[in-house]
Amino acid sequence: RETAQSNAQDVVELAKRHLVQPWPTAGEVGAEARPLIRGGEGIYITDGAGKRLIDGPAGMWCVNAGHRREELASVMYEQAMLLSYNTPWYTMSEPSAVLAKRIADYAPGDLNHVFFTTGGSSAVESALRFMQFYNNVRGRPEKKLILSRGGAYHGSTYLSASLNGRPRDRDWMDGADDLVVKLSSPNPFRRPEGMSLAIFSNMLVAEFEETVSRIGADKIGAFIGEPIQASGGVIVPPDDYLPRIRKICRDNDILFIADEVVTAFGRLGHVFSSGEEFGLDPDIITFAKGVTSGYFPLGGMVVSERLLAELRRSNHPTAMYAHGLTYTSHPVGCAVALANLDLLEGGILAHAQAIAPYFQEQLRTLEELPLVGEVRGTGLMACVECVADRESKNPLELDTSVGMRIDAHCHELGLLVRPLINMCVMSPPLVITRDQIDDMVAILREGI
Ligand code: PLP
Repeated sequence: RETAQSNAQDVVELAKRHLVQPWPTAGEVGAEARPLIRGGEGIYITDGAGKRLIDGPAGMWCVNAGHRREELASVMYEQAMLLSYNTPWYTMSEPSAVLAKRIADYAPGDLNHVFFTTGGSSAVESALRFMQFYNNVRGRPEKKLILSRGGAYHGSTYLSASLNGRPRDRDWMDGADDLVVKLSSPNPFRRPEGMSLAIFSNMLVAEFEETVSRIGADKIGAFIGEPIQASGGVIVPPDDYLPRIRKICRDNDILFIADEVVTAFGRLGHVFSSGEEFGLDPDIITFAKGVTSGYFPLGGMVVSERLLAELRRSNHPTAMYAHGLTYTSHPVGCAVALANLDLLEGGILAHAQAIAPYFQEQLRTLEELPLVGEVRGTGLMACVECVADRESKNPLELDTSVGMRIDAHCHELGLLVRPLINMCVMSPPLVITRDQIDDMVAILREGI
């Protein structure tokens, strides 16, 4: 309460003196002023000066149901008053079991068990450690390599970060490089000049097949991929690409892990997109963010019954998946996720499906601007990619902070953008209306 009433500039000074913020540069670590955000309602947030902004990225792709939802806040209060915490080591809570059942009902194929974590990185980490455990118990300790892709973002823990394929994420950071093999990003905008989408897809699939046969399927434990690469710039792959990769994984006993940390819980109009949008039946799905609309740090993985049954039948019934977090299955997180699912089912999913074509169509009008190389996306996720020259699609001659500069202009005009070097990612709360989309696009146009 004291902080809320203090002068915005004083808060910024406190942060500069004492707060380490994510993704700092060495020159600014522990000394950075970022815009202060003090309130939120619906699709809007309010900054330190009291200015109302459209929350263009919905926090970090997460505030799907919108800010200040009484239904979510009150459930958190009620659950905390009933049971604020229970150890998942020796006990369990009702919300976690009920939520696992509801999530399992939505998951494709035979994915019917859920392990809860504290967010997306820990969900990915849990899935990969599960793969390692699974192959150890099956007597395949050599089968551990992980296939990941350029443009990927899977998290900030050591193993999940090792999978990241965005330029600059790994320049100054170490990783478990001996465990990871990187493949190409399925980015149609950056495909070779003049190549059709069909040939591009063939090329990606051929690279995958060649990698599996060169390394040997007996050495590869899993492929992990975002159905749509989110932080890599909303990369929508060619239609047939993911089903073909899924088939190669199945044929070679390689686990297919769909990282749906962004694409689940309504972002594409479904609870999970793997099945409903892409026709996939992954072995494991990881999720986070939208599961609680960002009201509580919760994530998890949904695991296939086939894998669990195989473990239960193995020759090592006492082998232990020695993995769990203090906040695994947190009752407050699970309770708010249940209330969030009620909201999604109660109209938000249908609204997201209905409004998505308008959102995409309006954003694409920005392609008229000379600085814009492409606007792409699907559902309520999109990316405006700026280039110095539309013919060569060259972003390199641009000021590298072009995204930051667009964000600064848009902030003045009433929109928070998620700048990614030369790209602006837009993924607003799913409750956005047509008029609000018009406002968002008008501001973005002027900002650019
Ligand atoms: N996976 C994907 C696809 C993500 O986009 C992110 C975060 O943006 C993560 C994993 C990591 O999630 P978290 O930041 O909750 O640890």
